[in-house]
Amino acid sequence: MQPVRGTKDLIGEAFRRHHHVIETARHVTTLYGLEEWSTPIFEATGVFARSLGETSDVVSKEMYTFEDRGGDSVTLRPENTAGICRALVSNGLTQGGLPRKVFYAGPMFRYERPQKGRYRQFHQIGAEILGAAEPLADAEVIACGWQILQHLGIDDGVVLEINTLGDAPSRDAYRAALVAYFTQHRDKLSADSQVRLEKNPMRILDSKDAGDKALVAGAPTIHEHLTPEAAAFYAAVKRHLDLFGVPYRDNPRIVRGLDYYSHTAFEFVTDRLGAQGTVMAGGRYDGLVQEMGGPPTPCVGWAAGVERLAELLAETPEASPPVAVIPVSPAEEGPAIALTQTLRASGVPAEIAYKGNLKKRMERANRTGAQAAVILGEREVAEGVVVVRNLSDGTQERVGMPGLLSALAAAGVVDAMLEQVVEGLEEGLGPDPEDAED
Ligand code: ATP
Ligand code: MG
Repeated sequence: MQPVRGTKDLIGEAFRRHHHVIETARHVTTLYGLEEWSTPIFEATGVFARSLGETSDVVSKEMYTFEDRGGDSVTLRPENTAGICRALVSNGLTQGGLPRKVFYAGPMFRYERPQKGRYRQFHQIGAEILGAAEPLADAEVIACGWQILQHLGIDDGVVLEINTLGDAPSRDAYRAALVAYFTQHRDKLSADSQVRLEKNPMRILDSKDAGDKALVAGAPTIHEHLTPEAAAFYAAVKRHLDLFGVPYRDNPRIVRGLDYYSHTAFEFVTDRLGAQGTVMAGGRYDGLVQEMGGPPTPCVGWAAGVERLAELLAETPEASPPVAVIPVSPAEEGPAIALTQTLRASGVPAEIAYKGNLKKRMERANRTGAQAAVILGEREVAEGVVVVRNLSDGTQERVGMPGLLSALAAAGVVDAMLEQVVEGLEEGLGPDPEDAED
């Protein structure tokens, strides 16, 4: 059996990198006062179909949509912003208590051509500020994203590119300018973009087609068409980014792949991932909550691809290898279990060898990457001591139970943070019989 094309299993190092990205984001978003939400991975198709825009790549060709057994059309979520807005409305949270600041993490699904950095099941982390119209909110949610990149140690090769999509009057004027421009070059546009020219000309700016891209390079930008209000909003966002100390550069070509954006649009990009260089992207979406049946609720947020961020990590976070507790014979399993549970209770990962002679169990301990083995034989149990073997250098010593955790600390198992726990535990365990012998 093979996994479905464009999906992958996360095991070992791959999982640890992935997990580290999510845990770091979870931590940093907490610093910004975000609370985590979890919404279903499938929604009624309408949640996405209207809000993301029928001419967007996602809706026109990437959604996993199917009829369930009851005949309802449901869609595996291609992104989470629409679901979060749906949840805000369905849970009656649009009335008081705004703004709400939300973090999420989870799998998303898009029927795309699989390639490096592009999968059919991928994962996103995301941040949304719901119910805030101020440019300070735009800047703060971006600053939060930037701080996540910093905590991951990958801010060095990543640049924030920012643009504005203006307000409705700005976009109407811009749309007319784009139609005039692309109509002149109509026959050079891809088939998809000829359709976009009729239905949603701004979508052409987001085209991945090489011929379209060449035409886009010469297209007018929105900046000549911004209303004074839209221009002032954009200037205020950038002023606030300066106050947060987030570096950026203007890129008037950014439109984003989904239709719900207005005003601010941005992408964090890198050239270290080949063609799939956007790691985090978002913007302001003031109309989306209304599309979900709620009151006008201005919002701003971003989503980031976990696989792409994980790929950028310089190092794989280390696993914490367990201490191997080895009863020499079944007779010592009782004390070995008790000891294993004591270690776990004090925060030390511990594993008990299930079977085999001492040699087999030691081999297994080495395979798990354990740094230390704690061996209990008949004699040790009788004397109330254990043998601690440092598996990296092969040295071993006999210690009483109270000395055990210090011996593990010496073997590099128990880190500094746990040493306090160790001291407390040793006090609780009573006098060391080894000491008494001296
Ligand atoms: P692209 O232009 O690369 O298709 P997009 O505009 O479709 O991106 P968004 O919808 O803004 O992407 O999603 C935000 C982020 O999620 C992207 O910047 C990227 O890091 C990640 N992402 C999007 N689609 C995929 C995918 N199929 N596989 C892996 N990561 C993805
Ligand atoms: Mg895409």
